[in-house]
Amino acid sequence: MEPCALNTPKILLTPGPVHTRPEVKAAMAQDIAPWDPAFRAVYARVRERLVALAGGVAGQHVCLPLPAGSGHLMLEAAVRTFVEPGAKVLVPNNGDYGARLLRLVGECGRVGVEMAIPEGEVADARAVQVALAADPAISHVGVVYSETGAGVVNPAAELASAAAAEGRRIIIDAVSAFGALPFVIADHPACDALVFTANKCLEGMPGLGLCVAPIARVRAGAGRAASWCLDLADVLQQTEQKGPGSIRFTPAAQSIAALDVALDLLAAEGGPAVRLARYAANARIIHEGFAAIGLTPFLPLARQGPVVVNARQPIDDPNWDLQRLVQALAARGYVLSNFSSTEAPTIRVSAIGALSPEVMQEAVAALAGALGDIGVRRRAAA
Ligand SMILES: *Cc1c(COP(=O)(O)O)cnc(C)c1O
Repeated sequence: MEPCALNTPKILLTPGPVHTRPEVKAAMAQDIAPWDPAFRAVYARVRERLVALAGGVAGQHVCLPLPAGSGHLMLEAAVRTFVEPGAKVLVPNNGDYGARLLRLVGECGRVGVEMAIPEGEVADARAVQVALAADPAISHVGVVYSETGAGVVNPAAELASAAAAEGRRIIIDAVSAFGALPFVIADHPACDALVFTANKCLEGMPGLGLCVAPIARVRAGAGRAASWCLDLADVLQQTEQKGPGSIRFTPAAQSIAALDVALDLLAAEGGPAVRLARYAANARIIHEGFAAIGLTPFLPLARQGPVVVNARQPIDDPNWDLQRLVQALAARGYVLSNFSSTEAPTIRVSAIGALSPEVMQEAVAALAGALGDIGVRRRAAA
């Protein structure tokens, strides 16, 4: 048989799945019996390390994994476990993931209240506090920490303080933030859940939805989820009765083993602050690189976050075609998203993943080459 084309080595320029290191990939290449004592120890250790990374306190906070799943799945579990059916969730919406959170809240039978914010602008904690004061029926704020659509970062800590000031609670979609952007859950008792996955800034493999939450709040959520699979109180009960290495259902064990290695690599890099500095350097290189090759960056540098950098698609050039660009870049060894996550069509390049600033420089040069390959000359947005 011909080898699968997927096996051709390529560098992922996508902000999830992200590019991973060889050691992380290698940890997947094994059969694992998840009830094996050796694996139980890995599972328990990974959960303990994630509580520490979230700024949680042992005995007060717990890391709850879904055995397999995406970020959306864990967000749904958090909404079902922490928000009463029919209660309102205020969502500052400044991009694709804010819109997704609103939909998800509604699909769970809770009521999403949109605070519309122009795409590319940042949520304002004062405005959130005013909106909460005006509507006592809002029990939670749902916040996307790093908006992976537009590329802006919302002030999660300020928003948590605004919720606390009005006696409300907050659920944070930290999927493209956790592992790099700081948030100390112990400093924010109003936070019910910090939600993330293994495969964004943690640079593990896909397949795991995770959250860190206060134990008392999880217990208080018992009986609310109207779901067995997505009931985080049930996950907690299992943990307390059978231990943090025990399983409810067959987990994505290889992804958990890979995450253990990814956490070693995060520590070896110097921790989240050092990783954030690398991502910020990557983002600057992409932003400046876009401008240098004639493309128009989507955001001004001042509002550009460290996770994903967009440029306006050069739609005025008759040769422009995103799919052809993606193919031309793939021929040069790089994988680009073949869709746009902003209202206006954009090219999105990831600053996260196991990518060094040197690799980002090369990627920008490859992008310029690929644009040349497909004959795009009028690159600036009108
Ligand atoms: C990637 C991402 C998610 C989750 O995506 P899944 O495909 O469900 O894993 C959620 N929120 C944000 C902000 C993300 O970047």
